Amino acid sequence: MAWFKRVRKPIAAPEKASRVPEGLWVKCPDCAQAIYNKDLVANSHVCPKCSHHFRVGATDRLRLLFDGEWAEYDPGLRSTDPLNFIDTKPYTQRLKASINATGANDAVVCATGRIEGIETSVAAMEYSFIGGSMGVVVGEKITRAIERAIDRRLPVVIVCCSGGARMMEGTLSLMQMAKVSAALARLDRAGLPYISVLTDPTTGGVTASFAMLGDVNIGEPKALIGFAGPRVIEQTIRQKLPEGFQRSEFLLQHGMLDLVIDRREMKSTIARLLRIMTEEPRGAAPAPVTPAAVTEPNPVGAA
Ligand SMILES: [Zn+2]
Repeated sequence: MAWFKRVRKPIAAPEKASRVPEGLWVKCPDCAQAIYNKDLVANSHVCPKCSHHFRVGATDRLRLLFDGEWAEYDPGLRSTDPLNFIDTKPYTQRLKASINATGANDAVVCATGRIEGIETSVAAMEYSFIGGSMGVVVGEKITRAIERAIDRRLPVVIVCCSGGARMMEGTLSLMQMAKVSAALARLDRAGLPYISVLTDPTTGGVTASFAMLGDVNIGEPKALIGFAGPRVIEQTIRQKLPEGFQRSEFLLQHGMLDLVIDRREMKSTIARLLRIMTEEPRGAAPAPVTPAAVTEPNPVGAA
């Protein structure tokens, strides 16, 4: 016979430290400096004292990259929960909660606009929407952003910020890796540049596909970039991992990244790279661009 009952409370998840909270003052999680919120925004969400890079949302990211206005595409695409997936709660409920919290319909915003005058197709991922996970909608929107770039002869910039593939969409989310990669191959065949910007965190299926496929791969300082988490790797290889493993600077040293750039210099760096990569070779006549040059050859055995 039970004399009293203990009401079990679920353990609360720890608050995300690197997200800029609402309010007038923000405490830097790295150096504990109190920063006036407006100063932080004016400084590209970077701590003025220790250069800690706060996580930024997709819209803020576009604001940091583009000269002014931009045109957004496919904002209405929504996941249909094709697997009727339920974990601790139904996937449809998770989607609804994220849509209400972020005001966006999925974890990526795709737009075209100008970066120092260069018209560019940009896809920026939104971490606060189910961990920036890549489901069918993210894959489709990024693919469309790349195809739009091929049609209009634009360079592509993708800002990655993701926990990886969206497990609530199972293998359908894994198929997005192949889909986006194939679109990037078509972009490459069309002779158009792609710059990948890897921000904290870029992991799982996103790292294993388009995040690492840039003509230039740029990391933000101290960003966590990897495929599996360090604990899983340690258990698998039974070795202690080196200091700073899976951080931008370590990956730069080991040849996985081409550059690590402070966010305050990101726009000018991307613009400089785009100018170098889109410039016609001197003396050469500009090659005529026909849709035929862009289409893929038929695979063997295809009709
Ligand atoms: Zn700081």
